[in-house]
Amino acid sequence: MQRSLGLYDSVSKLTGIGTSRLEALRQRGIETISDLLYTFPFRYEERTPQRNVAALPHGERVTVEAEVEGALIVRYVRGKVLVRAPILIGGAPAAATWFNQPYLKSRIRPGMRLLLTGKWDAARHAITVAEFENAETSENETGWVPIYRTTTGISQKFWRRAIRQALQAVAAPWGIPEILPPSLCQKYRLLDRGQALMWMHFPPDLEAYKQARRRMAFEELFTFEVAMLLWRAEQRVEIRRAPAPIGEALIQRFTQALPFALTAAQKRVLDEIATDMGGIRSMQRLLEGDVGSGKTVLALFALYVAAQRGQQGALMAPTALLARQHYLNWQSVLAKLGVPTVLLTGQTPPRERAAILRGLADGDLVAAFGTHALLEEDVRFHRLGVAIIDEQHRFGVRQRERLEEKGDAPDVLLLSATPIPRTLAHVLYDDLEVSILDERPPGRAPLQTTLLKSRQLHQAWERADRAVQDGEQVYVICPAVFDSEGREEIANVEKWYRHLTTHYREWRVGMLYGEMPAKEKEATMAAFVDHQLDVLVASTVVEVGVDVAAATVMVLLDAERFGLAELHQLRGRVGRGTRPSVCFAVSDATTQEARQRLSVFATTENGFELAEKDMALRGPGELFGVRQSGLPEFQVADLASGRAMLEVAAREAHALQEEGLLSSDAFASLRSFVQQSRSPVFVA
Ligand code: ADP
Ligand code: MG
Repeated sequence: MQRSLGLYDSVSKLTGIGTSRLEALRQRGIETISDLLYTFPFRYEERTPQRNVAALPHGERVTVEAEVEGALIVRYVRGKVLVRAPILIGGAPAAATWFNQPYLKSRIRPGMRLLLTGKWDAARHAITVAEFENAETSENETGWVPIYRTTTGISQKFWRRAIRQALQAVAAPWGIPEILPPSLCQKYRLLDRGQALMWMHFPPDLEAYKQARRRMAFEELFTFEVAMLLWRAEQRVEIRRAPAPIGEALIQRFTQALPFALTAAQKRVLDEIATDMGGIRSMQRLLEGDVGSGKTVLALFALYVAAQRGQQGALMAPTALLARQHYLNWQSVLAKLGVPTVLLTGQTPPRERAAILRGLADGDLVAAFGTHALLEEDVRFHRLGVAIIDEQHRFGVRQRERLEEKGDAPDVLLLSATPIPRTLAHVLYDDLEVSILDERPPGRAPLQTTLLKSRQLHQAWERADRAVQDGEQVYVICPAVFDSEGREEIANVEKWYRHLTTHYREWRVGMLYGEMPAKEKEATMAAFVDHQLDVLVASTVVEVGVDVAAATVMVLLDAERFGLAELHQLRGRVGRGTRPSVCFAVSDATTQEARQRLSVFATTENGFELAEKDMALRGPGELFGVRQSGLPEFQVADLASGRAMLEVAAREAHALQEEGLLSSDAFASLRSFVQQSRSPVFVA
């Protein structure tokens, strides 16, 4: 019997884990017993030993009970070692084959009874063995057997043995300590932790498995929330400042300088920003708004408020083009408001750059628009009061921090067009207040989305041709850039560029894709913005946030190859002006999944609604590409179907914190679990 171990002891304390296995586990991020126990099987195999050969399904994985009937034969076939044994299954003769395990010859003897799991070949009456064990020993792997994602050097069998051993060792003498508040376990009827861990690995039946999953999903969401709360408490050394309420007169002066009246949603968010900036703590606000909802003016407002207080502001955008567009569009309005503004990108000539840096350092220049170039070491501000990041999902947390560090706890405003549903935003950006801009500015002409089959494509080109005749512009978006041999034909930029330039000679066509030199990319995009091109054939690199009011037609080729969020972002490039626009989604896809996605796309205009529907359809991972969006990855919990649970977990964690309990002794084991485990908070 193993002596008892702690959850945070090294896995090396388990028997059979030497240096090479230890290293293999470490590669998988498994260092402690807890890590091991929290690596759940990715599926289970029902292994009820069969004894009736006639009932075995051909070509499928089966478990049989067999008796070894004669000596093993070792053969070498095309560089592989093959061990073969005659066996009896329920009295019927058959054969068992193992690959590359010549040592079995000395282990398996005639007369032994074995449990064999592997693929059954009904024609040859043979089983290719993946796993086997002695049927006479007591610990047989039957019933629901867990299957793990293994790593080289570690077999399924070993993995299971290690887990069993770990479960026993940590359970003695008092069981695995509970980390959830007992009141919550009771309230939500959750299995206790030890039982749940046991059943996640070795469920006796389906019901037990469901119960274990439910408990683990809750634990995952709850500890995620707790990790976030603890992290925030540590991070935010609260700097308080004297409140400086923002008066109505200041707001009036700002709105009167704008070329349009704000929408009700914009006014609401403007008030939220004013309250934050006038408050005793610096603003930490995320502004989510669909493409074209008019987020930029709210950034300008923040810059204006800072300027009124004698502070400076920075607005960072992901591309030089976008930064330049903001600058060109708004610099004169800001000037009118008494806010001298500059543009700083990687392309700013050295001499001009030096002058800008001087201006920012001594405070003569008030607002800086720019790209990552703003983050450079030698860019210093005299008094940076507000840091704004446009299209924030294109930046990492570190970059956000670097911009913030150029000031002394400046107000922070993040703009995002990724429509993360509010509940998720609260979980993911728990340290931020969230504003949502859910109204499009008036006067926008309608944007119609039409689904086409490729044989109807001529309809799209006819519409495009009319647009070009009328002085409007067209985007053609392809999922691929070049022809790739061997792959089925996917619409690609190069082919369609060639096609359109030869068939529509009067169109001025340009092409744009990621692998182009940056200079060329910028030049092409600028030409399109300046209307020196009528049609732009592009991959998905086509700039986010770029405003080309004359663009009224978008043709999305092989549209099923894009995710729903991506389709929506792309569609946002048109319908930005006053003329009616149309987006053609062209696809011959026949799968139900693809058809459904495209029809949701065609019938849903609002990005947030779309996100909700897509979540229901496929789960958030699919929607944004988990890594790219920075959404947390959970092992058990499912954000798509488990939204209600997420809200409960968040509410309960906050309640504990508000009662001051999270830091109490009673929750020491919860805290150490959160600190030791690989929480998705820190992965994101
Ligand atoms: P996004 O939210 O996608 O960043 P922008 O801030 O670029 O949107 O705004 C899109 C366009 O709508 C811009 O041309 C902007 O000038 C215009 N706009 C913004 N707010 C209004 C409004 N209240 N009325 C009319 N036009 C507006
Ligand atoms: Mg924008």
